[in-house]
Amino acid sequence: TDTTSSVSLTLDEARDLAIAALTRRGADNRNARAVADIMIRAERDRCASHGLFRLQGYCASLDSGKVDGAAHPTLHDMAPGVLKVDGKGGFAPLALELGLPALADRARQQGVAVLGLTDIYHFAALWPEVETLGELGLCGLAMTQASPMVAPAGGTKPFFGTNPLAFSWPRPGQDPFVFDQATAALARGEIMIMARDGHDAPDGAGIDPDGNPTNDPAKILEGAQLPFGGYKGSNIALMIELLAGALIGSVFSVESGRQDNKDGGPPVGGEFILAMDPSRFGDAGWAAHTEVLFKELEAIGVSRLPGTRRRLARQETPSQGIRLPKALYDTVQDLAVG
Ligand code: NDP
Repeated sequence: TDTTSSVSLTLDEARDLAIAALTRRGADNRNARAVADIMIRAERDRCASHGLFRLQGYCASLDSGKVDGAAHPTLHDMAPGVLKVDGKGGFAPLALELGLPALADRARQQGVAVLGLTDIYHFAALWPEVETLGELGLCGLAMTQASPMVAPAGGTKPFFGTNPLAFSWPRPGQDPFVFDQATAALARGEIMIMARDGHDAPDGAGIDPDGNPTNDPAKILEGAQLPFGGYKGSNIALMIELLAGALIGSVFSVESGRQDNKDGGPPVGGEFILAMDPSRFGDAGWAAHTEVLFKELEAIGVSRLPGTRRRLARQETPSQGIRLPKALYDTVQDLAVG
């Protein structure tokens, strides 16, 4: 359906358009499907900033030759508790599909395991990876660096990526508890959408190129974003640089930024994912104890937990489809069929 401002699509139609756009540019079937799936999972959960809005960037990085659309990621056993996936210069989704089942197996065997992914191009949200672990009965913690966009506490120039941190906790018999948040006050995609739509950014979102606070999203994109929570968010962003960079043998955001060709797609980077099996920590009642906490929260009136919004959207979009802004639909259509 085509109205003046938006176009409605089924999830399958949206997936087909994404796959067509990616394969046209040399992505192989496995990579195109994995990347399309990750965008459609975001559309399904009404996370517009990581849905088809990202297709243009993925395509730009295939067009520029920065990312190998036919990459074959490889899995390596580094130590009993440490696995590594070498992404071989491809997009993150296929590397994650290879690494996550192995990480889950290892965490079940040992109680705890870490997966480090290197030489990947991550352009998505992190909840899909931790949610997958949560649905497998594991606690997951994932983080990745990006290119420099966020000024550290005490600095005025971009240094950290928006460095997201995602967490999942399994709740047997029901959806896992999942949160996923940037360490920047706002995700980059949100600021890009505000700039596109002519909306002001909230206070504390960023500074202009001279280091002055501003609400103009275009000036923030030229200047720097700010971490959430002042120096506390800045410290978490720094931890993510160390875990997703130095620990696993990947790059820091500043290094990634220096080598990037600025084609509008994702920068090269790594991802740190920790998985823990609660049933291996000695408390057979952990799952029931978990529910005590959630009931206590409910008792004091807290009903909006992270992940709730996405799960509700997920019940609707498979039958109702999604609505894409007309301009985005035209871009997607153009990328898919020219
Ligand atoms: P938000 O601030 O929108 O949301 C952060 C988390 O808080 C979500 O889990 C959300 O759950 C939850 N939440 C939102 N509102 C409430 C509320 N009122 N009460 C309780 N929980 C709430 O996300 P960000 O803007 O910080 O990050 C957006 C995305 O960008 C993330 O998915 C992140 O992974 C991604 N990203 C990816 C990068 C990359 O390099 N690949 C870089 C930076 C960010 P819910 O989903 O239910 O709304």
